[in-house]
Amino acid sequence: MKLFIAFLIGLIVISNVLHAQDSLRANYWLGKSTGKLPSLAYGLGDDRLGGAKMGYIDTNVVFKIIDSVQNMYVVQLSKFHTAFIDKSYIKKDSSIHENLFYLTNSVNASATDSSSDMVSISLSEKLPYKSWMEINPSKIIIEIYGVQSNTNWITQLSSLREVKNIYYNQIEDDVVQFVIELKHTQHWGYHIFYDNNKLELKIKHQPQKIELSKLKIAIDAGHGGTNVGAEGIKTKIEEKEYTLKFAKALQQLLLKKGVSKVIMTRTTDTSFDMKDRILMLQQANPDIVISLHLNSSGNTQIKGTSTYYKHIGFRPVSQTILNRMLEIKLDEFGNVGSFNFGLNAPTDFINVLLEIAFLSNEQDEKRISDTKFQKLVAIQIYKGLTDWVQQLQSKK
Ligand SMILES: [Zn+2]
Repeated sequence: MKLFIAFLIGLIVISNVLHAQDSLRANYWLGKSTGKLPSLAYGLGDDRLGGAKMGYIDTNVVFKIIDSVQNMYVVQLSKFHTAFIDKSYIKKDSSIHENLFYLTNSVNASATDSSSDMVSISLSEKLPYKSWMEINPSKIIIEIYGVQSNTNWITQLSSLREVKNIYYNQIEDDVVQFVIELKHTQHWGYHIFYDNNKLELKIKHQPQKIELSKLKIAIDAGHGGTNVGAEGIKTKIEEKEYTLKFAKALQQLLLKKGVSKVIMTRTTDTSFDMKDRILMLQQANPDIVISLHLNSSGNTQIKGTSTYYKHIGFRPVSQTILNRMLEIKLDEFGNVGSFNFGLNAPTDFINVLLEIAFLSNEQDEKRISDTKFQKLVAIQIYKGLTDWVQQLQSKK
């Protein structure tokens, strides 16, 4: 009898343990990121441009999916961090073998070629990460989630031209933060991706000689094809047609001024999806991207010019261009940061969005449709670029 009771108690204990494990497992399932340019968001957002982005992530990154809200999954990044991801960016993967814990291992940094440094962080799995820029002094910060540090070895070779120092902190039980200090004030951009289980950060060098004519400049005419954009309040002119006119005026001026490497995202009235523009630009690898749009507001009194950036490291050129735009008697609508516009999101290259003026305001609209004004705007953008280059030259 005693033996039988002991046996029964044993069974109950075992089944409770199994049940507890079961319920822990049932709290989430595992999947991997997939698709074209997957990205994480802080929340659902209610903005026309979508929820505030945490940043792009590579494909095949392992995620714990804990919840589903509307078209988004909620993923557990670490004990205290969650994020939102569009459902189309996650594929369920039952073959993922989950470790009890994950580690960061050795770090290697060296120049890979004449134009970039590579920082390579070894991990035991493709784990979620977030990265951002800081200024004064300039740094790139990377947070890796669900991981403990086993990094006892950070090799920095003398070939490095942009990376000044690398160090890390285990900032939470399961979050490791890497800090990459840069040598120059201006951020020139970086690309972050996985190569097997190594998180790679390709950081662009500052050009040895900074001259505007030597830079590769991409001009993006907003909208196009079926994506018409805003409409003129009086004449009903279409934004897509006029962004192209401004873009071509700028292209001609830059070529005339000796900038030989000018790239256009489009030269005709074609539909060009935002993600495809980003992928095309990542391939083309410009030093700077200038995206041209025309603004619109429900309030027809609002007018003026504005520039936009997302990453603080890319702000300076958006300020010099805005200052020059203000010289041609346009009202100031402002210099806007943390902006959620698609082409402001990449960290790969310096980028700025210029909303030249408002199509929804009669005075602005009249100027937009004037060929002379289109040429004048090109001149002001060129002057803004020149000011920015001069600032860089004086900083060294
Ligand atoms: Zn637009």
